[in-house]
Amino acid sequence: MRLKRHVSLLESTLRHTVARRLLPALSSPCARCRHSSTSAAYPERIAVLGGGVAGLTSAYFVSREFPNSKVTVYEAGKDAGGWVRSVKKEVPGGEILFELGPRTLRNATVTAHLCQELGLVDDITYTKKSDAAAKNRYVYYPDQLNRLPAEAPSLADLFTLWRTGIMAGAFGMVREPLIHKRPDSLTDETVGSFIARRVDPRIADNLVSAVFHGIYAGDIFQLSAKTLLSAAWQLEGRYGSALAGYFTMNRQYRENGGTAQVVLAHPYDVDAAQAMNDELEIDADLVQDMHAASTFTFKGGLQQLIRTLQTAVERTGNVDVKVNSPVQSTTALTGDQRGVAVTTGQGDSTQTSNYDLVISTLRNPSLTPFVTVQTISLYYSDPTLIQHAGFGYLIPRSVPFEQNPERALGVIFDSYATSGQDSVPGTKLTVMMGGHWWDGWDSYPSDEEALMMAKNVLERHLGISEEPTAWHVNLSKDCIPQYTLGYEDRLQDFARGISREFKGRLRVVGNQFNGVGVNDVIQGSWNLVRALRNGGWRRESVGLDRAMDTREWRVVPAGTLGYRRGV
Ligand SMILES: Cc1cc2nc3c(=O)[nH]c(=O)nc-3n(C[C@H](O)[C@H](O)[C@H](O)COP(=O)(O)OP(=O)(O)OC[C@H]3O[C@@H](n4cnc5c(N)ncnc54)[C@H](O)[C@@H]3O)c2cc1C
Repeated sequence: MRLKRHVSLLESTLRHTVARRLLPALSSPCARCRHSSTSAAYPERIAVLGGGVAGLTSAYFVSREFPNSKVTVYEAGKDAGGWVRSVKKEVPGGEILFELGPRTLRNATVTAHLCQELGLVDDITYTKKSDAAAKNRYVYYPDQLNRLPAEAPSLADLFTLWRTGIMAGAFGMVREPLIHKRPDSLTDETVGSFIARRVDPRIADNLVSAVFHGIYAGDIFQLSAKTLLSAAWQLEGRYGSALAGYFTMNRQYRENGGTAQVVLAHPYDVDAAQAMNDELEIDADLVQDMHAASTFTFKGGLQQLIRTLQTAVERTGNVDVKVNSPVQSTTALTGDQRGVAVTTGQGDSTQTSNYDLVISTLRNPSLTPFVTVQTISLYYSDPTLIQHAGFGYLIPRSVPFEQNPERALGVIFDSYATSGQDSVPGTKLTVMMGGHWWDGWDSYPSDEEALMMAKNVLERHLGISEEPTAWHVNLSKDCIPQYTLGYEDRLQDFARGISREFKGRLRVVGNQFNGVGVNDVIQGSWNLVRALRNGGWRRESVGLDRAMDTREWRVVPAGTLGYRRGV
């Protein structure tokens, strides 16, 4: 079944590396092609492949960087936005909003600046750090909700947590500095194995698997520690222990006259943070609001960001967003031409155009597998159904099957997690199911089955047996890339292959390359476009400069990585 899944992925996605073999006619100039190999100081014709967050933000940034370029965005679907979708539902007395994909963002410099440029600041709705949703996050274990320690947990909080068994193995943290450093031959390890080796297997199974269900819907025994726990991985490599390493580097920094708290950071991230501080001017009020917030979204949902972005790029006059335009192949131009031929369309109706530069946000099946997530959004007119104020809860892999036969990943308490989106009060929840639990499945629950499963979860875990007033089921097939064991090596091989073939004229960005969150891909697009400046678009890069940057990680004050102006 797994093979079948990959075959269908292979069939349905762009095949950068095999395009030439599949479509030999494209590797040489043809009569139908429009050529534009340029001698100009900027790329005259740019194609952006995919109209999700990564594609639209790339189009936005690149159209500002090169206002004289002609930019075409090719989107396979009937709308731009990718996984971002917010739907409104009429309910008695008003209207409510369900998010089918991402729902909240954390403070991030490039995103905040983008909101400011797009005129979205007044439409932001914040969840403040002092709100219940910021302070209370729960883990379901083994048959009850347990509040995770807040910033300064009381002894009573810790004792309550301890009694449930969820903290079993936490003493492993104290022993962590005594654990031998990994052998040099170990070049990557799964998150589960890393935590089990350095702390305790029970911490991996309970707390860590819950957190990774929330972010990646993934299996900690497949995901890469080198990529996803990169700071801890680097600390162990340098100091022999993550915990002792952290204290050692801080002590050494103070001994050398430093006063700040320091962290270990990738030099690329340090440079990128410096560039953001140098180039992005954010209003002091917005900086303050973002700092006081735990998360934020928009009154019209996250899709408001997409709509505003699309309007902004189309208004420039030099960006054309073409929907219903699936990309079939990309082929490097040959001979004395530099550029990429992009074939789009379906069936007999395909068209090939040449571009000086292509920014691709499309997935490459050889790099990562993907997981499928089903979300069931529910609204109840009664606003008092949630007994635990907070963001919601996650379910670890260790929860006994009879407590979670549906294999839910977690439940978000939307009525706490977001505010200002509904015109009527009520209880709003989202049940997330699937993820790695559904690896290899070739069919998924129908809407009715999913609704029934979600209601069972809510009744068993929260005691909610009422019928929802409104609901919506959404299946996001193959939606979250899994940065599995060996990901960084694969990414570097991929970058070298694309660079060899396309000589810098095809760059990649998106959730398969920059991180799985919205902020990650926005930051990725910004970094990618910055690197095109000053003739950078002619260099042989693929946009994966961080992955290819092999400089030693640096000890820097933690504040170096954030936005320092106006704080
Ligand atoms: C259920 C769910 C919940 C999430 N929650 C959060 C959250 O709370 N916070 C957060 O930060 N992130 C969250 N995310 C992740 C976030 O949605 C992604 O990081 C982001 O949407 C990725 O954007 P992208 O542009 O890289 O990819 P995509 O959104 O996948 O966009 C790619 C685009 O390319 C198009 N395309 C594909 N193939 C072709 C082709 N051959 N030709 C032309 N176009 C093509 C697709 O139609 C799509 O529009 C969530 C994701 C899901 C699925």
